[in-house]
Amino acid sequence: MIQLQENISLKPFNSFGIDVLTKHFCRVASLYEIQEILEWNKTNNNPLLVLGGGSNLLFTKNYDGLVLQNALKGIELIKEDHEYFYIKAMAGENWHEMVTYCVNMQYQGIENMSLIPGNVGASPMQNIGAYGVEIKDVFESLEAVQISNGTVITFDNKACEFGYRESVFKHQLRNQFIILSVILKLRKIPKYNTSYGNIEQELIHMNVQEPNIQSIAEAVTRIRQRKLPDPTKIGNAGSFFKNPIIPTALYDQLKQDYKDMPGFAVSATAFTKVPAAWLIEQTGWKGFRIGDAGCYPFQPLVLVNYGSATGAEIFNLSTQIIEKVKACFGIQLEREVNIY
Ligand SMILES: Cc1cc2nc3c(=O)[nH]c(=O)nc-3n(C[C@H](O)[C@H](O)[C@H](O)COP(=O)(O)OP(=O)(O)OC[C@H]3O[C@@H](n4cnc5c(N)ncnc54)[C@H](O)[C@@H]3O)c2cc1C
Repeated sequence: MIQLQENISLKPFNSFGIDVLTKHFCRVASLYEIQEILEWNKTNNNPLLVLGGGSNLLFTKNYDGLVLQNALKGIELIKEDHEYFYIKAMAGENWHEMVTYCVNMQYQGIENMSLIPGNVGASPMQNIGAYGVEIKDVFESLEAVQISNGTVITFDNKACEFGYRESVFKHQLRNQFIILSVILKLRKIPKYNTSYGNIEQELIHMNVQEPNIQSIAEAVTRIRQRKLPDPTKIGNAGSFFKNPIIPTALYDQLKQDYKDMPGFAVSATAFTKVPAAWLIEQTGWKGFRIGDAGCYPFQPLVLVNYGSATGAEIFNLSTQIIEKVKACFGIQLEREVNIY
């Protein structure tokens, strides 16, 4: 039986710790409950927001609608062949706990994505990624409920139209589906990726000669704990901006003026990815603070709430950063975080 709550604070439900109210709130733990609340909403017509761990969104005002907290639980091995284990995880499972489960079971492929906050259900939304691996690399399919009629549809990897922090659910199918579960295809014979970031140095530091799933997960965890603010201590939603992808011709031109500007060629294209953190630092924002809204001193890509910043204050800071970067480099930064 679903339980609707009225006018409750969303502060405990978003990693920025923004204190706004939602008109309605409902926790759903089964497909039946989802269908029941969708039926209720047919006559009540509220805008709908599906909430996972709240670690990739910024509330700039009270939410005048229905927040649905997806709490579907369960992880199971549904099949295996000579190469892969197929793991089905329900949307309400915590992502990192699911990674840890797979690491412990020797299911290989997602250890580089250890310690990403949030839930499984949100992971395909923006094709989460870290340390050279994205969910699209291991993604088999997902099941989602169509909000308009309550039917369940399966999407395979191609149908999700994954891109860099993108999927079809952020574009053509925006606000049309509630993701119920995800199936990942994880390797039996490992193929490690330790070339990205400082993983190799960290493994050396850990005295690891032969990396395995556990040691890579541990290395990534240690690096992330050093680099990123813990949302339980300082409100944040990880990278606030995407790394811009610009024409290589423009990059080459900028490089003449900014000799140390980093850039990574996007394979098989005439585009280059530029670290947004570098652009933000160059324009003087690193460590900037206005009231309780700030740009994290150790990773300028992360905007933070030091205590009682409002979502609007953080949003305004992000707008100023976008404008300054545009004025200096002619590069348009895009927000990665979902704004409500
Ligand atoms: C410290 C920190 C570090 C981070 N590092 C990374 C990183 O390395 N890589 C990375 O990719 N991200 C990173 N993030 C961002 C975030 O962890 C991911 O985007 C994560 O997938 C968000 O999950 P969530 O459950 O918290 O989603 P939420 O914030 O609850 O929701 C995000 C969006 O997805 C929608 N949504 C959520 N669940 C569902 C569902 N079941 N069905 C339909 N729509 C849904 C919501 O409506 C919203 O639009 C980081 C965040 C923090 C705070």
